[in-house]
Order: sequence, then structure tokens, then C-alpha cells
Amino acid sequence: MIEKEQPDFGVGGSRNQHFGSRSCRLETAPFRSNQQSAGCCRIGDEAALLVGGGRTCWRTARFPLDSRRTFVTRVGENGRIYKTENDRPPDAALRRLPGHLVSFARFVSRREQRERADRSTLADLVRVPLPLAYGLELEWLGTAGYRLTYAGHSLLIDPYLSRIPLSAVLRRRTVLADPTSHAPLLARGIGSVEGILLGHTHFDHAMDVPALAHTFNTKAYGSDSLMRLMALYEMRDRAVEVRPHHPYELGPFTVTFVPSLHSKLVLGFKVPYDGALSCEHLDQLSAAEYKCGAVYGIRIEVAGTTLYHQGSANVIDDEVPTGGVDIFLAGLAGRSFTPGYWRRVLGRLQPAVVVASHFDDFFRPLSAPLGFTTNVNLTAFPDEIAAISRTIAVAALAPPAMAS
Ligand SMILES: [Zn+2]
Repeated sequence: MIEKEQPDFGVGGSRNQHFGSRSCRLETAPFRSNQQSAGCCRIGDEAALLVGGGRTCWRTARFPLDSRRTFVTRVGENGRIYKTENDRPPDAALRRLPGHLVSFARFVSRREQRERADRSTLADLVRVPLPLAYGLELEWLGTAGYRLTYAGHSLLIDPYLSRIPLSAVLRRRTVLADPTSHAPLLARGIGSVEGILLGHTHFDHAMDVPALAHTFNTKAYGSDSLMRLMALYEMRDRAVEVRPHHPYELGPFTVTFVPSLHSKLVLGFKVPYDGALSCEHLDQLSAAEYKCGAVYGIRIEVAGTTLYHQGSANVIDDEVPTGGVDIFLAGLAGRSFTPGYWRRVLGRLQPAVVVASHFDDFFRPLSAPLGFTTNVNLTAFPDEIAAISRTIAVAALAPPAMAS
């Protein structure tokens, strides 16, 4: 009997593979002629994965098969296969749904109280000193955005400054960068910008990248979706599609991109706007068209300090570097939808300090007082980390409006 799954990953996409007790044998014919694609099957007590198409050669990978577990397989750029064993199948997401709904109902009933508590927690967190090398500056730009400056050289990471209103998302309006929102950053005198690093291409990470790459006369580093975004601005020559785990020397910074995942923000079931960016006209670039693309954690070494940036709260466990991280720049939004997130990521990174980000309401302009993402519960963050390790410090950086 031959059974074959033929999932359509799309370029840089992902989906769960349930092997269960299914039996089948390898199918050797190409599944698609010009796209990365995959088939899976069971051979004895192993699962085998066959991948190929387009730029990629045929590859196979075998994983030990345990019918109680579910593997997430991912076909990344350059044809690499990524997997994680710690995700959960949809029925587990379903089991967790009542908990998420109760949590949301609690938030709604105590919204003002919660916001006051989060504000007070933030005031405590910004007072915690960071282990930064002498002369190294780290500025939070809101959401998962940062500026890192050392000796007159800067990097920008996931800079999202334009902050479109929620109504623009709901009405599917075309949303492009607002250059006036860049003025405070330009006024800072941040020296030579050696690169703009991008973890994924959702609008709240990527929208300002082309304009900032142009303004600072620099290159943007990220996924093939970033390449497509830059191509829409006729700036493909300013985009670098990164090679995972390859060290990029950018001025005094050594930067490595680590294959990662995005949190399933849709109640634990789904990544919003998943898949690769494929919009072909700037005037059609609505928020929904900024598809997620491939996701990366970003490791940065500079002047003896190592930082690790994870813009969305999910990981591919085996890919996360082990140890040696001083500062973990951790996006908090969606962490409750990723089972065991802190245990999994902190167990690998073992950072000295976790700096919270992506907890702010990114539909408010940066010039307005900071608000909080719905039900983000910053107040719980220090206890969540303490439950994993008493030696890892927690911190946050001053909100952008406060810092400007
Ligand atoms: Zn995102």
C-alpha cells in the first residue's frame, strides 16, 4: 500500500506533520517542479522526509518516530529542513483554548487594574542595569525594534516606527512607511548604520525597513520575503537574503541568523499572515500582505557583549545556540500560545538577563504615551522567568516616547 502526504509548504512556509501510525513508502518523483515541497512517510520506527524542487536538491531526513509526539517540519531557505519536537498538534491547541479564553475574559474584566500593574512593573524593570560593554548603547524603538550603537557604528533590528492605526489594518488599507516617524531616530546622530536586521516580515517589524535602508544608505538582512519587499521599492541590491548560522561581519558587530518560528498568535492554532510575501505592487501592500516569511532569531556579538534577539515568542529548539548570551531581547507577545516557551528558550540560551519587548500597543504612535498589547500581562513576566531560573535577571528599556 502506498500512502503519500504532499503538503504544500510554499516558499519558507511550515505546517505540522502527523505521522501517527500511518504507513507508506518513499515517493521518489518530484512533487512540484518549481517550489520547495515535501513528502513524508513512515519506515519502521522512523519518519522520513523528502524535499526538493526549485533551487533545492533532493534531500532526505529521518527522525525517530514516536506516535505520541508530533514533529513540526519546516523547509527553510536554501532547502534546509528544520524540525521541532516540542510543538503540539491542533487537538492540544484545542485543549488549551478554554484556558486562553478564561485568561482573556479575566483581562477584559480587570483591564484598568492590569494596565496599572503593567505600568508599575515596567517602571521597575527599566531601572535594572544591563551588562553592556563600555561604550555600547542599546535603545528600544518599540515593538521588537532596537538600535545598537558602538564606537560610531549602529545596527537597527526590526525597526517599526510608523505605527499604523488598527483601523488601517481592519480596512485593509495600503500601509507604507511614514518618514516623519523616522525624524527622532535621525536626530539622534547614530553614526554609520552598518545594517538593518530583520527577524520576519510582518508589518510591525518590516514596514520601515526599505525607507530606513535608503535613508541610512545601508543594507537590510533577512529572509527571501525581505528580498521581495525591497524589490517592490527597486532596492533589491540593498537586501541580503541571509544564510542561517553564517557569521556576518558588519562594522564591529558579528551577526548570525538562527532559523526560528513565529508564535501562533491566533489562539495557539495559527501564525497570522503566514507564508511568504508575494505582493507585486506597492499600492496593494496592506498589513495583511506583509506575510511572515521565514523567521530568524538573531545573535549579535560586539565588544565582548553577546545579545540574542527573538522578535516572536517561539523557537526551533535544536537551532537555538547554547549558552554564551549576556542579553536576551525577548518579544513577549504570544508567549502564552507557545507551550513551555521560557523553559525551552532559556534552557538553551542561558542568558544573564532577559529584556522584555513587544509588549507595547503598536497601534499607538511612538509620540503617544505607551500602551500595552491586549492581555500581554507584563506583570507576570518576572515570575515566569523566576520559575525557570532564579539567577536570570529581568529588565526592560525606557519606552521610546520617554527616551526621545
Ligand atoms: Zn510577527
